[in-house]
Amino acid sequence: MRVLGIETSCDETGVAVYDTDAGLLAHALYSQIALHAEYGGVVPELASRDHVRKLLPLVRQTLADAGMIVDDIDGVAYTAGPGLVGALLVGAGVARALAWALDKPAVAVHHMEGHLLAPLMEGDPGSRPQPPFVALLVSGGHTQLVGVEAIGRYRLLGETLDDAAGEAFDKTAKMMGLPYPGGPQLAALAGQGRAGLHKFPRPMTNRPGLDFSFSGLKTQVLLAWRDSDQSEQTRADIARAFEEAVVDTLSIKCERALDEAGCETLVVAGGVGANRRLRAKLEQIAERRGGRVCFPRPEFCTDNGAMIAFAGALRLQAGQHEGASVMVTPRWDMATLPAV
Ligand code: ATP
Ligand code: MG
Ligand code: FE
Repeated sequence: MRVLGIETSCDETGVAVYDTDAGLLAHALYSQIALHAEYGGVVPELASRDHVRKLLPLVRQTLADAGMIVDDIDGVAYTAGPGLVGALLVGAGVARALAWALDKPAVAVHHMEGHLLAPLMEGDPGSRPQPPFVALLVSGGHTQLVGVEAIGRYRLLGETLDDAAGEAFDKTAKMMGLPYPGGPQLAALAGQGRAGLHKFPRPMTNRPGLDFSFSGLKTQVLLAWRDSDQSEQTRADIARAFEEAVVDTLSIKCERALDEAGCETLVVAGGVGANRRLRAKLEQIAERRGGRVCFPRPEFCTDNGAMIAFAGALRLQAGQHEGASVMVTPRWDMATLPAV
């Protein structure tokens, strides 16, 4: 079964074709970063309009890259939420219209399920992680620990009470004068920082539970930066200490979640999953515990069409699909999803 996947939940237009026998056939991504940069954040109406401009050309390009024509598609998967309502409606409208015209099924995909399943696309099929496992979802809008009992059966174990980890990276970067979007740049800068010159707290790790809080950490960084000489080296040193604090905090809670779930497989997804220090630290922990940690390749940590095509393919294979009306769910609890 060859599934066209469409992602338009925020500021990335992503399209891919996933074949349930041959794997990923093609994928293309258009990022609107330059469009939103002068505003310092995503402007929803501009995002919707840019998806309108870019989506059909990307669909054509992706099909051509896969060596397919539109009639070769067996089903269409699209992000129906959570996300910006206008942006979601562009993808949903195109996906439903295409499915209707081709008389093929269309399936609504939960964006965070897309992220969560992305690591399962990697490596040869025999070695892919099987539920039950614990998933750490760390993106621009979410920081969650999820107990995955089966594909489609998700139990929220803990989540952030304020900022998401990616949001903390982005806001901290902005505070220290890095251009939008700052998260990846802050991480790159952290690589040049010296260890041990600054020390920030590991929020909420000294009490039980699996929730997170990152907004206080941001304030600590602001104070340290304000009171410093604000040199390039200092910026890197503070970035390093901030990154270590976030990575340690996430790692401590991941271990705790594995202990509580009584399982040794951790799956990590979402944009912050591309962070090198986080990947290295979680690898180290998995090795020490004799367990396993699985990540998507870095480009599939952030938003992309491949994860939507893949998640949608699993649901279409299970016979799930939607009616003809175009509907999106901008706020959507993953625990309410049907099992696959
Ligand atoms: P959500 O998936 O919750 O709706 P989103 O789609 O905006 O949010 P993603 O695309 O998954 O989020 O990830 C983007 C986030 O990942 C940004 O906040 C960005 O700063 C962060 N990020 C990307 N690369 C890195 C990195 N190497 N280190 C730390 N953070 C990173
Ligand atoms: Mg994005
Ligand atoms: Fe995302």
